[in-house]
Amino acid sequence: MEEQGKKLTFFQKTPIKCPLCETDFYREELLTGGGRMIAGPLTRDLRRIYEPSKKFGEIFPLIYTITVCPACFFATFPQDFLSPPEKNKGALLEQSEKRKENLKPLFPELDFTRPRTLKEGTASYILAVFCYDFFTKEYSPTIKQGICCLRGAWCCNDLHRKFPNENYDYLAANLYRKARFFYTQAVEKEQRGLEPMSGMKVLGPDLDKDYGYDGVLYLNGLLELLYGPRQEKEKRIQTLTTAKRYVAKIFGMGKASKQKPSALLDQARELYEEINRELEQIGVQIEPEEEAAENE
Ligand SMILES: [Zn+2]
Repeated sequence: MEEQGKKLTFFQKTPIKCPLCETDFYREELLTGGGRMIAGPLTRDLRRIYEPSKKFGEIFPLIYTITVCPACFFATFPQDFLSPPEKNKGALLEQSEKRKENLKPLFPELDFTRPRTLKEGTASYILAVFCYDFFTKEYSPTIKQGICCLRGAWCCNDLHRKFPNENYDYLAANLYRKARFFYTQAVEKEQRGLEPMSGMKVLGPDLDKDYGYDGVLYLNGLLELLYGPRQEKEKRIQTLTTAKRYVAKIFGMGKASKQKPSALLDQARELYEEINRELEQIGVQIEPEEEAAENE
């Protein structure tokens, strides 16, 4: 069939047993060497774009991350798949039909036993968002839901590029708004000690680099600015002001480091200015001494 050297993925030889429905299945893994991954630019929301290569064509590393049971559509990051909260396993299995029904209008022909396409990839993130509703705080489910919504939106952008007449841009906007919601919740829960983010070792948001908690604070600000609700002026001012304070913390400590790459520092400064401009447009007066001085 396919020429060995041109393969992009393979299926693991050892099956995984779904902890809910006990179906055996094989995880698909991405082969990364041999010039398959040509890193392109970084987007403003910290996504790494990959250039298509002559030999392998387009590549979407994100679509293989989430482990999905092809029978009951249970879906999580690999580290959580085999050990969901014992007390919620029944409920998670019961929700199986609901998960499938919810996805049908968006993706009528999903098949998680064959090589994934962008559609299975996008769907895998949406499924994981459903499933993490049943995970307890030790798993840091909220930030995981945020990352899944963000990556789902990225996959939708790719789908929209390939199929411009199928409303995937609408779904992308929806997922960005949900990402905004979960990021805000995750930061708030972390700040109040209700749900630490330690259940997610690598905060991404993409696969190539970990921007850590600074990356989370940055995205919280960016998503609030671009996708936060605008109906109530006072609420908008309050959420943007809070988001801005978090963004200031990123460059408040100054120097670039491994956890704080200069690219993120520059983006954070730019974002800070943009939030200020947005606040001014709504009618908030920005004091000059407020500029970057309000850290820590
Ligand atoms: Zn299953």
